[in-house]
Amino acid sequence: MSLPVIKNYINDEWVDAESDVTGDVWNPATGEKIAVVPYGNRADVDKAVSAAKAAFPAWRKTPPLTRARYLFRLKDAFEENFEDIAKTLTREQGKVIDEARGEVRRMIENVEHATGVTTLMTGYTLEDIATGIDCYGHRQPLGVFAAIVPYNFPAMVAWWFLPYAIVAGNTYVVKPSEQVPMTQTKIMEIVEEIGLPEGVINMVHGAHDVVNGILDHPDIEGVSFVGSTPTAKYIYKRCGETGKRVQALGGAKNVIAVMPTADIAEGMPSLVSSFYGCSGQRCLAGSVLAPVGDKTDEMIEKFLFSVRQLTVGDGLDQQTGMGPVGSASQRDKVLGYIEKGIEEGATLLLDGRDCKVEGYPNGFFVGPTIFDNVTPDMTIAKEEIFGPVVCIVRCNSLDEVIDLVNTRGLSNATSIYTGSGSDARKFKYEVLPSMVGVNIGIAAPMSFFPFGGAGNSMFGDVKGHGQEIFQFFTDTKVVIERWF
Ligand code: NAD
Repeated sequence: MSLPVIKNYINDEWVDAESDVTGDVWNPATGEKIAVVPYGNRADVDKAVSAAKAAFPAWRKTPPLTRARYLFRLKDAFEENFEDIAKTLTREQGKVIDEARGEVRRMIENVEHATGVTTLMTGYTLEDIATGIDCYGHRQPLGVFAAIVPYNFPAMVAWWFLPYAIVAGNTYVVKPSEQVPMTQTKIMEIVEEIGLPEGVINMVHGAHDVVNGILDHPDIEGVSFVGSTPTAKYIYKRCGETGKRVQALGGAKNVIAVMPTADIAEGMPSLVSSFYGCSGQRCLAGSVLAPVGDKTDEMIEKFLFSVRQLTVGDGLDQQTGMGPVGSASQRDKVLGYIEKGIEEGATLLLDGRDCKVEGYPNGFFVGPTIFDNVTPDMTIAKEEIFGPVVCIVRCNSLDEVIDLVNTRGLSNATSIYTGSGSDARKFKYEVLPSMVGVNIGIAAPMSFFPFGGAGNSMFGDVKGHGQEIFQFFTDTKVVIERWF
C-alpha cells in the first residue's frame, strides 16, 4: 500500500514541495512507516515567505479585535477536533494518549491567551514630557516571522509563538520537525477551515535546507526556535549574522531534589511522571534525582517500587503508562548512554535495555532505567539523555544540591520536594534555571507566563508565550508630538 505524501500549506492551498527529496515518518510503537514527508528547499521557503509578505499589509490593518476573533473560531475548531489531533500526535510521536491530550490542551491555552491582544499589545503615553510636548509608544507588527520546532511536542511548541505573532498583526511560516509532520498538518487542516485571509499562516516541511532557507531569507523578521542546544546556538548565531530577531530555546539537564522533609507519598506520582512522562523526552523532564540526607535509601526504594508499576506499550492503548521513544536513532542513543553509565561505574538499579512489548516486536522501546551512585562528573550526569533514564546523585546537603543544579550548564528547569519553607526559599533564590517547581515535578509555565530556561538552555532574551512575547513580535514606535 502506498504511503500518504504530506504537502506544504502555502497561501491557503495544499501544495507539493518544489524539492523531490523525501523522508519517512514512523509510528514509534509499531516501528512501521506511516507517511512520506518532503524535505523542502529554499524555493519552498521562498514561496511561503512571498505569500506571508503579500498578506501582511492588509492583515496588519485588520483591527486587533477582528484578528482575535479568528482565534476564537480556531479555539472552537480545535476543541471539535481535539481527539483527532491527540491521536495523530501519539501515532507519530509515541507519547501516551493522555499526555498527547495534555499537549493539545496546552496548545489551545496559547490560542486563548493570545485573544487578550487588545490589552496585551497596548503601548503607553506620557503627557508633557516637556512643556506642551506629549510622547507615546505604539506597538507595531513587523512582517513575516517563522518557527522551527522539535519532535517531542509536535502540536504545542509552534503554538507557543504563532497565535501571538499573528494576533499582533504579523504573518507566519512554520517548519515542523521532519520526524513528526503529521500533527501540524492536521492542525493546518483545521486552520484552513476558519477562513483566515490567504497567506497569514503557512507551513513548509523539511529539514536543514528549509531551516537555512528561513535563516537566510531577507523578508523574515524574526525566528522562534525550540530544539537541542547545538542547533539553538547555530540558529542564534545565524540570526545575529542576518539581523533577525531570535529566541532560541535549547536542551536541558534537569535536577530534581528530594529533601528528607518531603512528603514522599504525596509527591511520588508527580516525581515518577516527571522522569518518565513522554519517555523522558521533555525539556522539562527530570534527569538527575538528587535525594538529600538520611532518608535516601527509603526514598529510593519507594521510587523504584513506583517505577516498576509503569507498563510500557503503545501510547494509543489507554492502559499504557509509558510509550516508546520517538525514533530508532533516539532509542540507540539512549541505549548508548546506558552502556556509558555502566562503563563509568554507576550502579544499574533498573535496566530498561531489553524491553519487550507483546505484539510490538519492532517498536522503539526502552524500559524505565535507574542508575544509583552517579557522581556529578559522570557523562550521564552531565549530558542530556532524552530518554527514560534516571541518574541518582546522592547529596548530603541542600548546598550540595544547589551546586549540582548550577553546574549542569543546561539550566532549563529544576524542582525541589520539601516540607521546609526556608529550604524552598533558598533553593528558588539560588538556582540558575528559570523554571522552578516546589513540590511539583514538571515546572511548566502556562501560556500566560513565559516559558524558557537560562544558561545553555536559552539564547535570546524574550522567552516563549507569557506577556513578554508581544515585545518579540512588535516594534515600539515612539512618537514625540507638539502642535503649535
Ligand atoms: P533538534 O535540534 O534536532 O531539531 C529541532 C529543529 O531544528 C527541527 O525542526 C530540525 O529540523 C532542525 N534542525 C536540527 N538540526 C539542524 C541543523 N544542524 N541545521 C538546521 N536545522 C536543524 O531537536 P529535536 O531532536 O527535534 O528535539 C529535542 C531537543 O529539543 C531536546 O534537546 C529538547 O530538550 C529540546 N527541547 C527544548 C525545549 C525548551 O523549551 N527548551 C522544548 C522542547 C524540546
